[in-house]
Amino acid sequence: MKIGVLALQGAVAEHMRSIEAAGGEPVAVKRTEQLSELDGLIIPGGESTTIGKLMRKYGFIEAIRDFSGQGKPIFGTCAGLIVLAERIEGQEEAHLELMDMTVARNAFGRQQESFETDLPVKGIDEPIRAVFIRAPLIKEVSSQVDVLSTYKDEIVTARQGHLLASSYHPELTDDFRLHAYFLDMAKEAAAAAKE
Ligand code: GLN
Repeated sequence: MKIGVLALQGAVAEHMRSIEAAGGEPVAVKRTEQLSELDGLIIPGGESTTIGKLMRKYGFIEAIRDFSGQGKPIFGTCAGLIVLAERIEGQEEAHLELMDMTVARNAFGRQQESFETDLPVKGIDEPIRAVFIRAPLIKEVSSQVDVLSTYKDEIVTARQGHLLASSYHPELTDDFRLHAYFLDMAKEAAAAAKE
């Protein structure tokens, strides 16, 4: 499976390493034309306003909406989760508006700016290692969205069909199981597209 990592800003190399470790073929995506060769796309953490601005500048908003419209899986981590959301608390404008959820940015406050924890995730046997850095939270989801994990009663992993989002950075650990989970989503989508 060829998995692209949107390489406009943020933790790109770390996702590429994790995809490789999980058995996929990573591709750094800098131009929209590259999307056509991919089985899935990761939108990394970083700064969502910067990533959003660069996505607009280089035509990625329409191109990724089209990619999603073909049923191809997308995984947003941290800032990438914010970019996927339909609504962002306190902001008039969102970015891709693909996942039917409301997110709050920097939702843990100063006290808990960054921390690590073992997080149980639906569909993965044992808890995964999760690194939170100025992380967002998912405040509200529609019935189309499946909640895969919560941390202190707040939603931090969610899936809507072929779209996956995590508040935290799975790529900053040596635990590659969430990337393996995403690879399975890409395999299923590729198989379904062939039918
Ligand atoms: N706080 C960042 C934002 O709002 C996200 C942080 C991250 O991706 N680690 O975009």
